[in-house]
Amino acid sequence: MKRLPMYLHRDKGELWLTENERENLKLSYRIRQVVFEETSPFQHVMILDSYDFGRMLVLDGIVQTTSADGYIYNEMIVHVPLAYHPRPRRVLIIGGGDCGAAREACKHPHVEQIDMVEIDERVVEACKTYLPEVSGNLSDPRVRFLFTDGVRYARQPEGLYDVIIVDSSDPIGPAEQLFEQSFYQHLYRALKDDGMMVCQSQSPIFHAEVMQQTYARMSSVYPHVHMYTAVVPTYPGGLWSFTIGAKQPLAARPRNRFDLETKYVNQEILTGCFQLPQFLKQMINTVETVAI
Ligand code: SAM
Repeated sequence: MKRLPMYLHRDKGELWLTENERENLKLSYRIRQVVFEETSPFQHVMILDSYDFGRMLVLDGIVQTTSADGYIYNEMIVHVPLAYHPRPRRVLIIGGGDCGAAREACKHPHVEQIDMVEIDERVVEACKTYLPEVSGNLSDPRVRFLFTDGVRYARQPEGLYDVIIVDSSDPIGPAEQLFEQSFYQHLYRALKDDGMMVCQSQSPIFHAEVMQQTYARMSSVYPHVHMYTAVVPTYPGGLWSFTIGAKQPLAARPRNRFDLETKYVNQEILTGCFQLPQFLKQMINTVETVAI
């Protein structure tokens, strides 16, 4: 019998992926087929075809994005900063191996260059080939792929980027340092004087500590920090947070009326996403903004 890939198990003849979210919480997905599986130099990579979420990218047993709802996350992490920045021309994406964020950034006609710094080339290759619903077979000439560690890369540029998008996996393994304060400091230096960065800051409910820590660390580096949310069914708890750090105050509304072709983001979402539920407001109001 064929060896079962890591992280998968059979239950009464059915194939399941069980994501070990935390000690007392596991999420299971019934899988139709293993489309791709490989251990890269950085992580275990799978593209699975699931019954309810369609094809999904799974890294080290953790679901990263799916055909069913990947667009919500990718549109939110890209269009919010690009709609509020006064003149986004040069964009840096760190991580984002599924290519969904780069694909969304390409929808902005004024963006001239997108540098995508991803540590794991195999993730990009697998997603381009087997996850076109998310990657869109990305082949825009404005996208420049740099396969290297985003932490190392971030130390070099000075005043180069308008917008930096940190589309990282969870803060374990190669992505751990993408949540460090020194990393946010390097990104600050890499931004132009009116630049801004955004990162995914995890679940306010299940990763409250990481979310608060991210907000605190960014607040000690950036003068203007704003949190916004979206509901992404794939991620534990659904409710997901994003944090913007900006060198200049954020405009009261997006630069122009939003008219790009999207499935989730629209003009109302762009302004409404900053309205936080009461518990979340309290969580970030009580965060100490000193260096951690
Ligand atoms: N949207 C997803 C989520 O929130 O779960 C994550 C998107 S993407 C798949 C995350 C990418 O970050 C992965 O492809 C991983 O290889 C990449 N990554 C992790 N650590 C990195 C690092 N230090 N430098 C560059 N890319 C990194």
